Amino acid sequence: MTKHDRKNPFLSKIKEEYCISENSGKETNHYVFDIERSGLRYKPGDSLGVFPENDPELISLTINKLGFYGNEDVEVKGVGKIELRDALKTELTIHRAGRKFVVAVVGKLPEGDEKNKLNELLEDRDKLEEYLNVRDCVDIINENPDVVFEAQEFVDTLQNITPRLYSISSSPKVHGDEVHTTIAVVRYENFERKRSGLTTGYLADRMQVKETEIPVYIQATKEFILPKDGSKDVIMVGPGTGIAPFRAFIEERERTHSTGKNWLFFGDWYEESTFFYKDEWKEFMKRGSLNKLTTAFSRDQKKKVYVQHRIEQHSKEIWKWIKKGAYFYVCGDKEYMAKDVHETLIKIVEKEGKMNREKAEEYVNKTLMKEEKRYLRDVY
Ligand SMILES: Cc1cc2nc3c(=O)[nH]c(=O)nc-3n(C[C@H](O)[C@H](O)[C@H](O)COP(=O)(O)OP(=O)(O)OC[C@H]3O[C@@H](n4cnc5c(N)ncnc54)[C@H](O)[C@@H]3O)c2cc1C
Repeated sequence: MTKHDRKNPFLSKIKEEYCISENSGKETNHYVFDIERSGLRYKPGDSLGVFPENDPELISLTINKLGFYGNEDVEVKGVGKIELRDALKTELTIHRAGRKFVVAVVGKLPEGDEKNKLNELLEDRDKLEEYLNVRDCVDIINENPDVVFEAQEFVDTLQNITPRLYSISSSPKVHGDEVHTTIAVVRYENFERKRSGLTTGYLADRMQVKETEIPVYIQATKEFILPKDGSKDVIMVGPGTGIAPFRAFIEERERTHSTGKNWLFFGDWYEESTFFYKDEWKEFMKRGSLNKLTTAFSRDQKKKVYVQHRIEQHSKEIWKWIKKGAYFYVCGDKEYMAKDVHETLIKIVEKEGKMNREKAEEYVNKTLMKEEKRYLRDVY
């Protein structure tokens, strides 16, 4: 059987799609990818790599704005000769402009204010990031309408599309030839044009269930894994889409009759509309496969409550579990949540373990994380 990986992805179809955040103002979907006859194997903790396609409307807009026809032959790095429209569909990033495109535009601008402004941006990493974050090539050409590109020249300024990763939210022991994912759709508006994340927009708006072929592969993890010894307790902190791998973990632990206890921390905006997989947790609890479920819904009351606050409230018990050898997992937002949870964990060790700050940091960062490898994170 052909081996499928990032270089040779499997063309999967989505069997089932449903929204798990109805009426919340958020759009988080559960997608079931069919991997029957793919030869793909995965374990809880692994991620699915997904190759997206650009929005056909944006492709046409880009072609028109730059004055191309779309049938020009272009050479794409790593691909070879291909028609421009096809290259823009599957190979090249056009929903966000890159530095190389700005450099090329600057090179074509006459001396003057606009050229100076863009040159200054190129010198300032943060400002450039801010500028690029809200613009695609069409926006930049709108601001610099006299700039003209040849098709190949334009293509040479674009970056190849890279696959996006999604934590797998199913155990293969329970779901066989399926890969489940839990995906938050990215949507925003800039310069009066509605935009979406490349992959999440593709899946939410353009993918046809049971029809569209989507190139996928398994990104295996070596670190974010369940303890080999099923009698170990696990604490899982997974707010928002961070819940994904823990659905897989709990399914797997139930199916393998692991005797260790499972404690899940989940959080999002509202209990009513964003309590992802609520009914499944109830069933797991009834069957004794989930021992504790602690939630934090930030917008259900005036004062915002997040998972780290709940963790702090349970500091004594968490410390007890950790002292007894429990594993501590965190998945989800890297920028705020993971940092706050990390800080809370250090505080718990300081307070309950009666250590000074330095010792507590050493215990968390070195002992738990590096030596014993039972503080594990999958954050993005
Ligand atoms: C190991 C790993 C596991 C992951 N697991 C999951 C998961 O289980 N579920 C999940 O949903 N995601 C997960 N992600 C994130 C996922 O890979 C993608 O990064 C995410 O879905 C966005 O991809 P996209 O192609 O839709 O958006 P992109 O096209 O990559 O765009 C995202 C970008 O849009 C821009 N943007 C967003 N909002 C605005 C705004 N208001 N104004 C201007 N720009 C804006 C930002 O620059 C942002 O970086 C994971 C990531 C990693 C690395």
